[in-house]
Amino acid sequence: MPDILIIGSGGVGSVVAHKCAEVAKSGGPFSRITLASRTVSRCEAVAKSVLERYGVSLDTRTVDADDEKSLCRLIDEVKPALVLNIALPYQDLHIMNACLECGVDYLDTANYEPPETAHFEYKWQWAYRERFEKAGLCALLGSGFDPGVTNVFAAWVVKHELDEVHVLDIIDCNAGDHGQPFATNFNPEINIREVTARGRYWERGEWVETDPLSWSMNYSFPEGIGPKSCYLMYHEELESLVENLPGIRRARFWMTFSENYLRHLRVLEDVGMTRIDPVEFHGQSIVPVQFLAKLLPDPASLGPLTKGRTCIGNLMKGVKDGRTKTVYIYNICDHESCYAEVGSQAISYTTGVPAMVGAKMIVEGLWKKPGVWNMEQMDPDPFLADLARYGLPWHCVEVSEA
Ligand code: NDP
Repeated sequence: MPDILIIGSGGVGSVVAHKCAEVAKSGGPFSRITLASRTVSRCEAVAKSVLERYGVSLDTRTVDADDEKSLCRLIDEVKPALVLNIALPYQDLHIMNACLECGVDYLDTANYEPPETAHFEYKWQWAYRERFEKAGLCALLGSGFDPGVTNVFAAWVVKHELDEVHVLDIIDCNAGDHGQPFATNFNPEINIREVTARGRYWERGEWVETDPLSWSMNYSFPEGIGPKSCYLMYHEELESLVENLPGIRRARFWMTFSENYLRHLRVLEDVGMTRIDPVEFHGQSIVPVQFLAKLLPDPASLGPLTKGRTCIGNLMKGVKDGRTKTVYIYNICDHESCYAEVGSQAISYTTGVPAMVGAKMIVEGLWKKPGVWNMEQMDPDPFLADLARYGLPWHCVEVSEA
């Protein structure tokens, strides 16, 4: 059975390590699991928890993934079949380069973003298609929840529920509460860059821009979660989905935020704390959002504090057998259950489980194709079967009105 290398030992990396160990323990397709990050003590803390919960030993290593030579040395030493990039989007291209150099498959959960510009786009990673194809290697992009499961949900609806999809609304609701005045539930720098960016959606063949968080709608979430305000944002899966869903007329992404989160964010923006350009301070160059991220709670520390549920899914309207049909496909995940299982809150959990399942699809050969792929380009059925099996059950219901 193949060995795997996980890079990044934060909130999401910890869940990936736990879930890979769970699969390995039950005779799944992973053999030796190595967890590497810049700070080896974080890897060791995760390894201790994994050993206690599953009796599986992880190898731990230090690596700076921005240094491609060190990365190659680590890959040559560990000899994994697959590298799971669970570090930050800034590392994507370095890790893809190292995978090509060393001849191993690649997976990540977020698309490349240059540190100096708050702008993410697949063009940098799609430019690797030919090189991965020629090398006979597989790179799977965005194997988290959104992007990730939302892409696979779209593919499953196209395969089983609709002949044509005309309208797609991805709606991400975190109805949980961590009790902190202000905290982000994944990496604070990446989260704040994403949320403060201009909104963008696809309508009739072109991208339409909106001011940040200037559009909102009310959506009533199922299973007792109830109505919440959702704000239109740009999100990376829209870019690949509008390419891969033929006939799509409108595609949008929405996320819920509490009034408290938005109030804090507005103040931080107004005083310049979300800026991403360097500022001279006492003879040192400081990037305000990075300093802010240092002061905010570590997302991995929110596990024991967070209560409530997440509900993330796709509302998709189109045509089936000549009649208009709308379906809602979603998962609900409980923060406290995730903490009891792997010691993490649900945002890390809902990202980490699909990363493990994507890795399983590649090493089992079900999704292993040479090239660079977005999730909706693969067969959704085996992925969604394993997603439910390993902790994220999902449902698809027909709704009367979109
Ligand atoms: P954290 O900040 O908690 O963890 C990031 C980890 O990356 C840390 O362990 C850090 O190491 C490591 N890291 C950063 N830079 C380097 C480097 N140069 N070399 C090696 N390791 C490095 O972030 P999260 O766990 O919350 O998020 C991880 C990824 O998941 C992000 O890319 C995020 O965008 C993505 N994500 C995707 C979602 C989806 O649904 N698709 C949802 C949520 C997150 P150290 O601590 O040692 O410095």
